[in-house]
Amino acid sequence: MNYQAPLRDMRFVLHELFDVTGHCQQLGNGLDRETIDGVLDEAARFAAQVVAPLNRNSDEQGCRLQDGEVITPTGFAQAYKLYVEQGWASMTGPLAFGGQGLPQMVSASFHEMLMSASLSFRVYSGLTEGTVVALARHGCDALKQRYLAPLVSGEWTGTMCLTEPQAGTDLALLRTRAQPQDDGRYLLSGSKIFISGGEQDLTENIIHLVLARLPDAPPGIKGISLFLVPKRLVNADGTLGERNAVSCGALEHKMGIKGASTCVMNFDGASGWLVGQPNQGLACMFTMMNDARFQVGLQGLGIAEAAFQGGLAYARARLQSRAISGPVAPEKPADPIIVHPDVRRMLLIQKTLSEGCRMLSAYAARQLDLEHYTGDAAQREAACRRAALLIPMVKAFFTDCGQEVASLGVQLYGGHGYIREWGMEQLMRDSRITQLYEGTNGIQALDLIRRKLLGDGGSELNALIDELATAVAQVKSQTAMAEQVAMRLQEWRTLAGTVLLACRRDPEEIGAVSVDFLAYSAYVMLAALWLQAAERASQVLAAGSGEPEFYQAKLQSADFYLRRVLPRAGAHREVLLAGAGCLMALPATDFAF
Ligand SMILES: Cc1cc2nc3c(=O)[nH]c(=O)nc-3n(C[C@H](O)[C@H](O)[C@H](O)COP(=O)(O)OP(=O)(O)OC[C@H]3O[C@@H](n4cnc5c(N)ncnc54)[C@H](O)[C@@H]3O)c2cc1C
Repeated sequence: MNYQAPLRDMRFVLHELFDVTGHCQQLGNGLDRETIDGVLDEAARFAAQVVAPLNRNSDEQGCRLQDGEVITPTGFAQAYKLYVEQGWASMTGPLAFGGQGLPQMVSASFHEMLMSASLSFRVYSGLTEGTVVALARHGCDALKQRYLAPLVSGEWTGTMCLTEPQAGTDLALLRTRAQPQDDGRYLLSGSKIFISGGEQDLTENIIHLVLARLPDAPPGIKGISLFLVPKRLVNADGTLGERNAVSCGALEHKMGIKGASTCVMNFDGASGWLVGQPNQGLACMFTMMNDARFQVGLQGLGIAEAAFQGGLAYARARLQSRAISGPVAPEKPADPIIVHPDVRRMLLIQKTLSEGCRMLSAYAARQLDLEHYTGDAAQREAACRRAALLIPMVKAFFTDCGQEVASLGVQLYGGHGYIREWGMEQLMRDSRITQLYEGTNGIQALDLIRRKLLGDGGSELNALIDELATAVAQVKSQTAMAEQVAMRLQEWRTLAGTVLLACRRDPEEIGAVSVDFLAYSAYVMLAALWLQAAERASQVLAAGSGEPEFYQAKLQSADFYLRRVLPRAGAHREVLLAGAGCLMALPATDFAF
């Protein structure tokens, strides 16, 4: 597989649909189009030339645990060094701590490229940005001064230590303890499992953000606090001191992302420092989770793009059978498989889901930027509500798409898709975890209904639908498409009202409708974005301002999405309207009968 960043589409989304330059002006960061395009060009080179070539070997080689140290796959340490030296690590970090303060709308494109190039490689740096956000927001000045700059530069990495053997989704079951000391430290004891990048040989220090309980903490989630626990203690002058009592006890053997270390981490009286207020750990962690969940969404998108590129290259090159309506390449022994309708169906699903998710990622990134950087308090709050509504959709829908598109990648290659050397089966294995971590996709869907929809009685969702409907009403060229999308938006509004009533009446409905409501919402949201893409393409084509093939393809892709992907929303609607009764009727004891 030869990955090349989809720069043309990224520019279409950023400049033509979302006016990233205007967005940057609004944020006051001084980035102009030339700089943004320059960053994307360099990012594409880094992803394709430095990271992507490591991906296959990292899968074959995996990580090793040797005398308590983790050895990452060959080439990762060198690539990570370049990642730091060339400033990729500090892209989004705060200016006050040496970061470049680039908006998510720009950095998301780079992160998507990294995910496509090697999900395993990205895992090591992926949680550092969230660690920075959580520490900058909740850490005291002393912690910020000591830890933020090296985290922002990428000299050190960050981890997120939540999961324990008995506590996954349900963090109320956490047992790790933190014992206060007279000198302001806490000693942490307990064991965490599945910790991404918990130990590695890329950086000299690793900063763990750990959830644990204080001795007098109330039971359940109200008794969880957040602690910073460094792998190596840090002296007052910033130099590294002795090793802390935290170690990697084992590496998990897993289905995919084999180049990323997934560690059992033992805390044996390790020195830690409280971040934020006692018993407010989950709230602090949530600051990090929005960012982390957005990043996992980008993992789904990155995998989808890589699988689409692989599928397309193969479909153009592989010769099998003749086109139904007669030979297309009579000089060859058979036609390339891209002539077959079913192959085109698979490719177009791959293409429209990938490009659709890319548009939604830019929309969500804009909200995250406004939430973090705009000076206007009302706008900040509005963006915060919008981002909160979108994040579960981005995380769950993008990663479901990643898995579907990767599976189509395997299918497109026929039997060769099942064989390692072609790379498709790795994408499928690598992408599977994205539907599970950072809260399973089922939990994302519950979050959408419980906290976001029921939380405000549907007002933020209705505000989003209003915004999309206004944009649809302004569409001039694609009236048939616009009518279809307007009808779906109205249906979405009515459906949300029905869901709200049902969930208020019977709490079992929350879990019964959630997954289908999330999928329905995401398919309709993507339809509204595809309509905007089609409108823009029509305008450019009418003006005759160049690249007709690109814009024609956008129009045809929008048409495909609305005709052959959007109808899935109808099926999700029908399923969720079936209600909880038939789900809950069968007694747990009778499932095997
Ligand atoms: C490779 C890998 C890397 C990871 N990295 C990290 C990391 O860096 N840091 C970290 O802290 N953790 C990490 N995790 C852990 C991951 O976040 C958890 O595995 C995940 O949140 C699910 O928890 P669980 O495995 O205990 O599943 P469970 O919570 O046991 O869930 C099992 C099933 O039950 C469902 N379920 C559970 N509760 C409910 C409910 N209330 N309603 C409906 N359905 C429910 C779930 O959706 C799931 O389908 C990682 C895991 C893996 C495999």
